Amino acid sequence: MALEEKREKRPPVTPMMIEEEAALRNGSRGLPPGPWAEAAGPRPRTTERHIAVHKRLVLGFAVSILALLAVTMVAVLLSVRFEECGAAADGPPRAGGNGSLSGAARQPPGAGQPPSRPEEEVRGGEAAEEEEEEEEEEEWQRRREPPPWARPRLPRHLRPLHYNLMLSAFMENFTFSGEVNVQLEVRNASRYIVLHAHRMHIEAVRVAEDKLAGGVRVARTFFYPQTQVFVVVLNRSLEVQRSYNLKIIYNALIENELLGFFRSSYVLHGERRFLGVTQFSPTHARKAFPCFDEPIYKATFKISIRHQATYLSLSNMPVETSVFEEDGWVTDHFSQTPLMSTYYLAWAVCNFTYRETVTKSGVVVRLYARPDAIRRGSGDYALNITRRLIEFYEDYFKVPYSLPKLDLLAVPKHPYAAMENWGLSVFVEQRILLDPSISSILYLLDVTMVIVHELCHQWFGDLVTPVWWEDVWLKEGFAHYFEFVGTDYLYPGWNMEKQRFLTDVLHEVMLLDGLASSHPVSQEVQQASDIDRVFDWIAYKKGAALIRMLASFMGHSVFQMGLQDYLTIHKYGNAARNDLWNTLSKALKRVGKSVNIQEVMDQWTLQMGYPVITILGNETTDNIIVISQERFVYDSDTKPKDPARGDNSYLWQIPLTIAVGNTSHISSEAIIWVSNKSEHHRIPDLEEASWLLGNINQTGYFRVNYDIRNWRLLINQLTRNHEVISVSNRAGLIDDAFNLARAGYLPQNIPLEIMRYLSEEKDFLPWHAASRALYPLDKLLDRTENYNIFNEYILRQVASMYLKLGWPTNNLNKSLVQASYQHEELRREVIMLACSFGNKHCHQQAATLISDWISSNRNRIPLNVRDIVYCTGVSLMDEDVWEFIWMKFHSTTAVSEKKILLEALTCSDDRNLLNRLLNLSLNSEVVLDQDAIDVIIHVARNPHGRDLAWKFFREKWKILNARYGEALFMNSKLVSGVTEFLNTEGELRELKNFIKSYEGGAAVSFSRAVETVEANVRWQRLYKEELFQWLRKSLTQ
Ligand SMILES: [Zn+2]
Repeated sequence: MALEEKREKRPPVTPMMIEEEAALRNGSRGLPPGPWAEAAGPRPRTTERHIAVHKRLVLGFAVSILALLAVTMVAVLLSVRFEECGAAADGPPRAGGNGSLSGAARQPPGAGQPPSRPEEEVRGGEAAEEEEEEEEEEEWQRRREPPPWARPRLPRHLRPLHYNLMLSAFMENFTFSGEVNVQLEVRNASRYIVLHAHRMHIEAVRVAEDKLAGGVRVARTFFYPQTQVFVVVLNRSLEVQRSYNLKIIYNALIENELLGFFRSSYVLHGERRFLGVTQFSPTHARKAFPCFDEPIYKATFKISIRHQATYLSLSNMPVETSVFEEDGWVTDHFSQTPLMSTYYLAWAVCNFTYRETVTKSGVVVRLYARPDAIRRGSGDYALNITRRLIEFYEDYFKVPYSLPKLDLLAVPKHPYAAMENWGLSVFVEQRILLDPSISSILYLLDVTMVIVHELCHQWFGDLVTPVWWEDVWLKEGFAHYFEFVGTDYLYPGWNMEKQRFLTDVLHEVMLLDGLASSHPVSQEVQQASDIDRVFDWIAYKKGAALIRMLASFMGHSVFQMGLQDYLTIHKYGNAARNDLWNTLSKALKRVGKSVNIQEVMDQWTLQMGYPVITILGNETTDNIIVISQERFVYDSDTKPKDPARGDNSYLWQIPLTIAVGNTSHISSEAIIWVSNKSEHHRIPDLEEASWLLGNINQTGYFRVNYDIRNWRLLINQLTRNHEVISVSNRAGLIDDAFNLARAGYLPQNIPLEIMRYLSEEKDFLPWHAASRALYPLDKLLDRTENYNIFNEYILRQVASMYLKLGWPTNNLNKSLVQASYQHEELRREVIMLACSFGNKHCHQQAATLISDWISSNRNRIPLNVRDIVYCTGVSLMDEDVWEFIWMKFHSTTAVSEKKILLEALTCSDDRNLLNRLLNLSLNSEVVLDQDAIDVIIHVARNPHGRDLAWKFFREKWKILNARYGEALFMNSKLVSGVTEFLNTEGELRELKNFIKSYEGGAAVSFSRAVETVEANVRWQRLYKEELFQWLRKSLTQ
């Protein structure tokens, strides 16, 4: 699953005005944000954890008793009788088992009436049953354990082997009906069948012994909403090692929200068309059919979908046969899947068209999208790279793609960037459709990397699946890491894994993981409602960074061999992190190396945060250095979240690579395993003027600090001849210095001094690192009185490179893909800095380009800087420009263009326009649901709009939480996006007061928000003046 907004490429928000006094108006900057994004609470440890678990059990039990009492009471009050279940319970079991009820799945439920929600339903109703229920409850009470349906995980006594799922989709009233037949294997005898089912109306339940004719009588059935399960209570126990068939007939809505089986729409030739599509990961398959909705329950699936012949249907496997009926309906029967988990099962009903290609190994790849997009060829790029990537992965993993086909489905609305359903991966249009004539390199990169990510999952995730969600980082970390490896395969000169990985993954996640409220990458979760929480940037980005560190100390070829073994051993099954560590250790052993990978990696995956290594030269003894480690935190005032432990006890085994350099030469690196708090090491060839550099090419997941003397030597080296130090280390030094200073480990002037060498820097990556590292600093300062001093300093550093590079002269057009990525990206970065910090030439150029567009109605703005130009134009020019961009936003059909036009509207410094935009953002007809969040966040980044967005957020929280609450990732992105740059005492108070009064959802995001704002306020108090003093002095020199 790919989360939205991975590489922020936002243009500057509200650049500085051309007028001189505008420098005092604190225009906001548009550097890429450092989202202090997602994180969640630490897991309790040792005794605390046991206590917590115990409390949970007791609490869970109490809740379940209460809930059962409540259900019983409501049942008595309403006396609602559930006919079919009643019949199954009371009447004799019908002979024959299958077939006699199947007609139910063919009728639209309730003749156009949507089926009622299970929450509204009350089951049972018979007095005898209630007595039974009470007896059962008492029985569980006596045993002092919660009943099987009240436990957070499904009881282990049953295992699904095969599902036959028949669906009828009624697109005219957005309902569907289904019949599922699950073949069950019994591991322990039990009278209960407990499986997931949520928000559906169950019409009939039947249990039959598989090989025999007779049924097993169903005593009663009920929903247990707290754990989202449906319980079938039988009159007698199912017997061990026998197999049974469970048949359930049900119906439900094709929801208007973004999870389960949901609907979406688009306009074609002025007519609104609908489609139904699924998003099951992580826990939403249970909304589409009753199932054992945990990844460990792998089974085979045979799906049939009945729909009007004007639509087509898709699922994981190809259609085997289609049966047409006279009344204009058709049933597609899909081939049986291999063993798989429920969360990447999928289907869709739509009237899309497609284009197709075939890989060397014969896999048919199709891209399905709106007919107009297919006709324009907007899917061709994705289709083409998908074919090449399947070939790449088959070769890299030495495991062939497992299914006969892969469909890529481009949908207008989706909660995530994409979802890796096996054989039917779903993408939001903005992450897969690409029109080469109007796409920037960044857009191309986004599309490319999302596809590389989802394709990696066809192996990591689909073929081999994590045992449980605590290890979701395994699949997401790998897919995220491979985004860079796979893109390097497609574009070998781009050096993504060696370079861009640093700024987009490593630097970004270290911002987040440096908060005391972070959490370990491997997170314990139980409740369905918590599971969405594990899909956060820590899982994705820290997971990827740890995997890269591992690959680097193992050696890439051994690492690759280990992965091949891992996939071969565990294919069609589940694996936990220890399975991976074991396989990788064996691979290392084969090449004669012995590292206990599990021991090393447990420290990195089970502890939150990361270390800062401090390297001190020892002045008394030659060639001896002192290396120490401690946990890095931004706000050292924050109490450790785990008081039993304290920050002092955090230790890691750190593969520290280290090199010695002098003016013209750098030694080859040596690796030192640091595992103690402090260690002495002898370094050969350490001369008077030589400097030390740690974490070569930033392959490790930690920061490095030095004594000031060494920092000075490094700064001198950068100024004299920066090329002695590698591109990735130059970027690493910049990022480490800015963040060490922000957290108070280093004087505030060091990072600003390092930046000075940039006027000679011709590589993209160090500029990109600087631009990203400046962003949070800029947001700390952008509403302060002396902001112009900071602004002036940055402008000076950028000026000469801006002059050297100039503007791109024409569109890259068809040569986009071949264009020099490094050069164009560097130019873009420098233009963005120049325009956002108020370089006059940059502003004039942007204004000229916008005026030309308006007067000629031809957009000749170079593709790669369009976002910067739009944003600068909106911010500098009058309301007419805003209206013009608004109009273009409505009229354009190209998704990439639509998105940057919308974001440009947030750059205005007219508060009325910003308010108007905020209010419009909640209108789904105008702004897509997933884009509304971006609008609000972008307004919050604009210093003229920060308080407006913050106010809007608080006023609309109920609506927003209802809309995104279940797709937790979006909610937490919103919370952090709106609050991360609040930095005054007053705002901190407002935040705390709001949290006291708010209702429901995102508690973890809010606690992180408080820590972030506290750290911002603390920085203002402790370091702001120090920074300004140095800047004043520096500017007068
Ligand atoms: Zn993913």
